[in-house]
Amino acid sequence: MARRRQVYEGKAKILFEGPEPGTLVQYFKDDATAQNGQKKGVITGKGVLNNRISEYLMLKLAEVGIPTHFVRRLNMREQLIREVEIIPLEIVVRNIAAGSLATRLGIPEGTRLPRSIIEYYYKNDALNDPMVSEEHITAFGWADPHDMDDIVALTLRINDFLSGLFLGVGISLVDFKLEFGRLWEEEEMRIVLADEVSPDNCRLWDTKTSEKMDKDRFRRDLGQVAEAYQEVAKRLGIMPEAGLRDLKGPEMMQ
Ligand code: UDP
Repeated sequence: MARRRQVYEGKAKILFEGPEPGTLVQYFKDDATAQNGQKKGVITGKGVLNNRISEYLMLKLAEVGIPTHFVRRLNMREQLIREVEIIPLEIVVRNIAAGSLATRLGIPEGTRLPRSIIEYYYKNDALNDPMVSEEHITAFGWADPHDMDDIVALTLRINDFLSGLFLGVGISLVDFKLEFGRLWEEEEMRIVLADEVSPDNCRLWDTKTSEKMDKDRFRRDLGQVAEAYQEVAKRLGIMPEAGLRDLKGPEMMQ
């Protein structure tokens, strides 16, 4: 059988041509990177968990009317998605000070912010994803003001919904990163949520103990990384049916 054509390989995922035009297969790897690729490692089972967690969260978001690129999960490590034109921005939402915001502004980690804050970063590895303002975004044409209105409105709704969903299972949604894409349907363009929503791009703290249940365990060498991702899946009630049988992973679909 012919090997599927690889369209793109990123740090944590690979995209393959999908079965029909306008679709892609998104494959979740166990590879983890931090500090823009300077720190590398493998979190065994991460791909399986992120595939499942992102499926669950995207479907929940779709139920409340957030358009996403997600179509369906195909197997332990792969999901079918709509092909979109990725807007080259990382949209970060913060509810509690942590990470780069805490460092940059000297606010102690864990401080509840007066209101949710949205930040934009230009997706460019060579430049280390610099923070940019809406002025840069519209001046350089990465997105127009109308796109930005849609992105902000969707982002605020996603933050409200996910904050409540996680709170219900004893997890504080501290901050997270989203990516959006343009989806064309019969001359009409819609902005949809793309990429993934998982402990790789969210900060998730236990509401009682503030224990970190996300990629900061890898970034900061805190240990028990895979266990933390599993705990998130358990609390959401979605540990993969077969457990983590597929730990050795990739039966790449040919
Ligand atoms: N984030 C991400 N990818 C990035 C940078 C940040 O998913 O390339 C997420 C990160 O997991 C956190 C939020 O965005 O939930 C804010 O990250 P921050 O700016 O504090 O950067 P960091 O401290 O992770 O370098």
